[in-house]
Amino acid sequence: MEELPLGVMMGVGENPTERLAKIRAMGFTTVQMGCPPPEFWSGEKLQMIKEAVGKSGVRVTTVFMGFRGESYADIPTVRRTVGFVPPETRAERLEVGKRICDFAHELGVETVAAHIGFVPEDRSDPNYKEALSVVREIADYCKARSMRFALETGQEGGEVLLRFLRDVGRDNVKVNFDPANMILYGSGDPIEALELVGSYVVGVHCKDGNWPTQADQLGHEMPLGQGQVGIERFVGKLVEIGYRGPLTIEREITGEQQAADIMKARDLLESLKAKLLPPR
Ligand code: MG
Repeated sequence: MEELPLGVMMGVGENPTERLAKIRAMGFTTVQMGCPPPEFWSGEKLQMIKEAVGKSGVRVTTVFMGFRGESYADIPTVRRTVGFVPPETRAERLEVGKRICDFAHELGVETVAAHIGFVPEDRSDPNYKEALSVVREIADYCKARSMRFALETGQEGGEVLLRFLRDVGRDNVKVNFDPANMILYGSGDPIEALELVGSYVVGVHCKDGNWPTQADQLGHEMPLGQGQVGIERFVGKLVEIGYRGPLTIEREITGEQQAADIMKARDLLESLKAKLLPPR
């Protein structure tokens, strides 16, 4: 299998066939799929996505969960609205999460991933226990379908994440490592965190960003190679720890600039792969 195949984060729009063809034409062989709206989870629209993926020559490596009511406006809002940690929406999102697992399973995708929300640093916080319990429940649901559940990094530092993974204690709970998020949330040096949780990493986002400059605000996302991640150092560390899975470009803007930045990111990653991967 190709080492470090390039991929891109895609949303399911009105025409997944067209979108996947475009992605393939851009030279990508893998995608991570943002969760489409519920009407795609069964029936005709599900069949349409299945066919589109089957014909595309592109492998869907991960389906991302997303929930109604989430907002990434600033750090307190993320804390209040994102993932499984906020108590008011937990039970409902747990059920939605399982439906998204079913959708991924229908597509033959082995990994589902999510921002689970801010894991409390204090283990005696009741939300810590609740977060453990919900992740275990999703993990066990995945396990019964030979799938795994990956936690998107960012909202906590490497040490908190590692402790949480150990406390969860499920062998199919993994990490989708986004180095830019760690910077955007001000949660610590991504390369140090990668060193800590490296053995759990099954997917990565190639994304860049600058540290926050104001309290409670997120940092600023940047085109790959222009932010403070140190993308060469990041890919170098991935190679060093033996990661050979997909490098999935994520650029969270829209329109022509997004497409242009993705192409540049692709070229940058191709050159880093040529430089950093040991000859086979
Ligand atoms: Mg990400």
